[in-house]
Amino acid sequence: MNILEKTELIKNQELKVEDNVENFIDVINKNNKSINAFLEINTDCALEKANEISGKLRNKEKVGSLAGLVFGIKANINVEDFTISAASKTLENYVGSYDASVIKKIKQEDGIIIGMTNLDEFAAGSSTESSYYGSTKNPSADGRIPGGSSGGSAAAVAGNMCDIAIGSDTGGSIRNPASHCGVVGFKPTYGGVSRQGLLDLSMSLDQIGPLSNDTHGVAVALNSLIGYDPHECTSLKWSAPNFLEAKNTENLKGKRIATIKQFREVSDEKINRVVDTSISKVEDLGAEIVDLDFNYIDLTLPTYYLINYVEFFSATRKYDGRKYGYKIEDVCGDEVLRRINIGSYISQQEFSGKYYKKALQARSLIRNEINKLLNDVDLIIGPTVPKLPHKIGDKLEPMEMYVYDVLTVIANLSGIPAGNIKAGESNGVPVGLQIQAKPQEDYKILEVMFALENSG
Ligand code: GLN
Repeated sequence: MNILEKTELIKNQELKVEDNVENFIDVINKNNKSINAFLEINTDCALEKANEISGKLRNKEKVGSLAGLVFGIKANINVEDFTISAASKTLENYVGSYDASVIKKIKQEDGIIIGMTNLDEFAAGSSTESSYYGSTKNPSADGRIPGGSSGGSAAAVAGNMCDIAIGSDTGGSIRNPASHCGVVGFKPTYGGVSRQGLLDLSMSLDQIGPLSNDTHGVAVALNSLIGYDPHECTSLKWSAPNFLEAKNTENLKGKRIATIKQFREVSDEKINRVVDTSISKVEDLGAEIVDLDFNYIDLTLPTYYLINYVEFFSATRKYDGRKYGYKIEDVCGDEVLRRINIGSYISQQEFSGKYYKKALQARSLIRNEINKLLNDVDLIIGPTVPKLPHKIGDKLEPMEMYVYDVLTVIANLSGIPAGNIKAGESNGVPVGLQIQAKPQEDYKILEVMFALENSG
């Protein structure tokens, strides 16, 4: 049963909302101790909300488009009365005093929030191993990391602990764990979804988006998440289409889709083999596949990390111990400290425009190049992550960890939408296909995802 079918059953009262919630609570009770996808759950609150929705349905009152669907929320997004720790000791005592814009929308549409999901500390990572609350296990690949930083959100979905999870994506943090856990994940066009209430990692790159086990879940979530927010300065005035309408896409005739030689070159052979089978399917569905070059692949990681360090340093100055209990530098882990230290150094040097200004110039080059490619085609497809997830406990150097991001940061640097859908498996480990489009052409990505799903 896909999410849309479930929504229908709920609306027709053939599936009780309380049962949907209780089924997830059972799985969470059984498996969360070992998977560690959720940092906190509130079953009473979820069941109360389920009751309220059931009441409305019984009384034939109108219910929202997410009625009865159960959500897990990454613990760096403000939800009233939950601990918004960002998986850091810094914020272990910070309880959300308000709902972020996206949370208001989910609640307005009668979605049910069951709890907060694990992440890399302050979303700075690609493995969820840097969480102060311990790493998350990948439910789809025994003993391996779930990816990150939204590893808890991806594992919650892959482990059948909720219908839809919300993540944030600054350099791949929705798509990367979606790829490693074999689920659908979507980073919308920058500015499409309000960031109000999200703890900043790197504000010019951060974007909130959904993860689910099928494209329907992502489409219904996008329908309610995307929208102009007057309280957020980067919010787009965009009358977005109804993303569910893409669900009947049977073929991809008339679509010109690019593969990029350099994306293959940086990826493991095992990954390329699986991704190639998906690309063949896309071609069989009628799309015209063209091979193009992206000439700045070597610039992507230095550009991304430099901008990330500077913006993150600035964002963390408020965690100075006065409002939130701890000074971040006193309690944070290695990766967060590294970013603060380098970010601080670069910021001091910046009067001479040595680094940050150069990174902004490189960012323009990357953005222009990607837009140039997308002028010629509808979409770009290829691997989401260039290598398979490592085993939990393997010690990676920082640069080895950053390499996971080489194919995902491009969309953030360019502000374009990008999604991940499972391409297949390599020795039982999921491998993801990344699909990218022009700004505000998020719908085209969903068409490909639905077409792939519909073709079985
Ligand atoms: N792995 C990237 C980083 O460490 C991306 C993180 C993210 O998207 N939140 O910055």
